[in-house]
Amino acid sequence: MRLLLIEDDRLIGEGLVTALRQDGHSVDWLRDGQSASDALRAAQFDLVLLDLGLPRRDGLSLLRELRGRRDATPVIVISARDEVQSRIAGLDAGADDYIVKPFDLGELAARIRSIQRRRAGRGEPQLECRGIRLDPATHEVWLRDQPVSLSAREYAVLEALLLRPGVALSRAQLEDRIYGWGEEIASNAVEVHVHALRRKLGADAVRTLRGVGYLIPKD
Ligand code: CA
Repeated sequence: MRLLLIEDDRLIGEGLVTALRQDGHSVDWLRDGQSASDALRAAQFDLVLLDLGLPRRDGLSLLRELRGRRDATPVIVISARDEVQSRIAGLDAGADDYIVKPFDLGELAARIRSIQRRRAGRGEPQLECRGIRLDPATHEVWLRDQPVSLSAREYAVLEALLLRPGVALSRAQLEDRIYGWGEEIASNAVEVHVHALRRKLGADAVRTLRGVGYLIPKD
């Protein structure tokens, strides 16, 4: 998923970026409320992790602005403000979840997966289509119940496509989901990952729609 992390604490920010990238997400990190507000107008993210105490603009006002313009991007508040009133205010301002610092990285990852499921209208934790099965919690992939080994980027492409079988994603959309800002991307990177997925999962596992992008056909 393409995540926007809004956090002014350098140590927490660095730790989260590393952990979330290891978990297969592309992460963009901003450290003040105003830059974050600009970024949220300019780009589409799959999920926002929002600190509340931020320079230049408070997280809660940022959240209200986002919901005020009917932007439904999922938001998890990550804050040291642990009073019940702060949690209620965050959720009522439009946050999907609220997690108090310090928190366990495994718990944050599980909450992200839960929001991802709800957003895709799914209840079951694993993704499955045409004999391909993927577990977002463990990053394991199976083809007709045989384990398949994928690189982190191949996994990210497969997960993005399996979240919505039958819906095409363009090369640019896939690049957004697997690379953060400032990361080197070879111009044919997505093609290379798709080629590898076809080699490992079958030639017809990923279909190319000429001029549109890539999709995994529906069952
Ligand atoms: Ca802060």
